[in-house]
Amino acid sequence: MCGAFITDPLSESIALMPGEASGVDFAKSPVTKGGDSHPFSHAAPMTYDPENIFAKILKGEIPCHKVYEDEQTLAFMDIMPRSMGHVLVIPKAPARNLLDIAADDLAVLITRVQKVALGVKEALGADGITLQQFSESAGGQEVFHIHFHILPRWDGVKMLSHPAPKADMAVLAEQAAKIRAKFA
Ligand code: AMP
Repeated sequence: MCGAFITDPLSESIALMPGEASGVDFAKSPVTKGGDSHPFSHAAPMTYDPENIFAKILKGEIPCHKVYEDEQTLAFMDIMPRSMGHVLVIPKAPARNLLDIAADDLAVLITRVQKVALGVKEALGADGITLQQFSESAGGQEVFHIHFHILPRWDGVKMLSHPAPKADMAVLAEQAAKIRAKFA
């Protein structure tokens, strides 16, 4: 059944291939939502809204506290940080979330996530990092341009729960400058 596919990767579902008889009705399953390049491509594709907030940040229509940028990637401070120095890493290529991003774009993105995580950890003297990625509303996603959350962590310090209060922009600017300096 569908739930087993998602929650129990060590079950029989591990052997399933697209189109194989499985007893699972993929057309009714949330995991079937994929673009044409994805295994379950017979399902309706998810749509990317080019007017989402992060697309507007990429177009320069709204500001952000940038910490890192290259040809394919942008990273900036989350304005409602759940830990000090909470950073978001996004690809410049449009993708809604983990379920529709092209594999090549994801491969680049995750290497940039690691690079930014290392810079954030060093810049802020964190003890560790929590990495989060939410896909679709049911998964907790609110902005529909794929992003990874990098949450610096300190021993014994809890993360705030969502929604966290909006940060002081001057404090964010200061943190962003410290992080950016690691990539200069
Ligand atoms: P998610 O639930 O993974 O879609 O999270 C979206 C994140 O984007 C939240 O942590 C928000 O605080 C953050 N966010 C929303 N608008 C902005 C913005 N304009 N600049 C930076 N971060 C934002």
